[in-house]
Amino acid sequence: MPKPCTRCLLKDYSKEVYDRLITEGLKALPPEDLVSDEVTFARLDICKECGKLNQGTCLACGCYVEIRAALKTGKCPYSKW
Ligand code: SF4
Repeated sequence: MPKPCTRCLLKDYSKEVYDRLITEGLKALPPEDLVSDEVTFARLDICKECGKLNQGTCLACGCYVEIRAALKTGKCPYSKW
Protein backbone atom coordinates (compact mmCIF):
# COMPACT_ATOMS: atom_id res chain seq x y z
CA MET A 1 0.00 0.00 0.00
CA PRO A 2 1.46 3.39 -0.96
CA LYS A 3 1.99 6.16 1.57
CA PRO A 4 -1.31 7.91 2.43
CA CYS A 5 -1.96 11.01 0.36
CA THR A 6 -4.38 13.54 1.80
CA ARG A 7 -5.10 15.26 -1.53
CA CYS A 8 -5.40 12.10 -3.63
CA LEU A 9 -8.45 10.46 -5.07
CA LEU A 10 -8.61 6.71 -4.64
CA LYS A 11 -7.73 6.22 -8.33
CA ASP A 12 -4.46 8.05 -7.68
CA TYR A 13 -3.82 6.26 -4.40
CA SER A 14 -4.46 2.58 -5.09
CA LYS A 15 -5.81 1.01 -8.28
CA GLU A 16 -6.76 -2.14 -6.36
CA VAL A 17 -8.81 -0.18 -3.81
CA TYR A 18 -10.29 2.06 -6.52
CA ASP A 19 -11.44 -0.91 -8.60
CA ARG A 20 -12.89 -2.71 -5.58
CA LEU A 21 -14.72 0.25 -4.06
CA ILE A 22 -15.41 2.72 -6.85
CA THR A 23 -15.51 0.80 -10.13
CA GLU A 24 -17.60 -1.99 -8.65
CA GLY A 25 -19.79 0.46 -6.75
CA LEU A 26 -20.56 2.53 -9.83
CA LYS A 27 -21.25 -0.59 -11.91
CA ALA A 28 -23.97 -1.56 -9.44
CA LEU A 29 -25.85 1.72 -10.00
CA PRO A 30 -28.35 2.36 -12.80
CA PRO A 31 -26.62 4.41 -15.56
CA GLU A 32 -29.49 6.90 -15.52
CA ASP A 33 -28.53 7.85 -11.95
CA LEU A 34 -25.07 9.00 -13.06
CA VAL A 35 -23.81 12.27 -14.52
CA SER A 36 -21.43 12.38 -17.51
CA ASP A 37 -17.72 11.72 -17.05
CA GLU A 38 -17.12 15.39 -17.90
CA VAL A 39 -19.28 16.53 -14.97
CA THR A 40 -17.75 13.93 -12.64
CA PHE A 41 -14.20 14.98 -13.48
CA ALA A 42 -15.01 18.69 -13.08
CA ARG A 43 -16.43 17.98 -9.62
CA LEU A 44 -13.43 15.86 -8.66
CA ASP A 45 -11.04 18.63 -9.77
CA ILE A 46 -12.71 20.81 -7.13
CA CYS A 47 -12.40 18.07 -4.49
CA LYS A 48 -8.68 17.71 -5.25
CA GLU A 49 -8.19 21.35 -4.25
CA CYS A 50 -10.28 21.03 -1.08
CA GLY A 51 -8.83 20.64 2.39
CA LYS A 52 -11.60 18.20 3.29
CA LEU A 53 -10.31 15.52 0.90
CA ASN A 54 -8.38 12.72 2.59
CA GLN A 55 -7.38 9.63 0.56
CA GLY A 56 -10.48 9.81 -1.59
CA THR A 57 -12.84 10.41 1.31
CA CYS A 58 -14.61 13.68 2.11
CA LEU A 59 -14.03 14.51 5.77
CA ALA A 60 -17.18 16.66 5.78
CA CYS A 61 -19.57 13.82 4.98
CA GLY A 62 -17.53 10.60 5.05
CA CYS A 63 -18.33 9.64 1.46
CA TYR A 64 -16.02 8.42 -1.26
CA VAL A 65 -16.00 11.50 -3.46
CA GLU A 66 -15.56 9.44 -6.65
CA ILE A 67 -18.95 7.87 -5.99
CA ARG A 68 -20.70 11.04 -4.82
CA ALA A 69 -19.36 13.13 -7.72
CA ALA A 70 -20.72 10.61 -10.23
CA LEU A 71 -24.29 10.72 -8.90
CA LYS A 72 -27.01 13.01 -10.25
CA THR A 73 -28.18 13.40 -6.66
CA GLY A 74 -24.64 13.94 -5.38
CA LYS A 75 -23.89 17.27 -3.72
CA CYS A 76 -20.88 18.75 -1.99
CA PRO A 77 -21.80 19.39 1.68
CA TYR A 78 -20.04 22.75 1.37
CA SER A 79 -21.80 23.62 -1.92
CA LYS A 80 -18.51 23.76 -3.82
CA TRP A 81 -20.14 21.84 -6.68
S1 SF4 B 1 -17.35 16.98 -1.55
FE1 SF4 B 1 -17.01 19.19 -1.13
S2 SF4 B 1 -16.25 19.31 1.00
FE2 SF4 B 1 -16.00 17.19 0.28
S3 SF4 B 1 -13.91 17.06 -0.55
FE3 SF4 B 1 -15.27 17.54 -2.28
S4 SF4 B 1 -15.27 19.77 -2.43
FE4 SF4 B 1 -14.48 19.25 -0.39
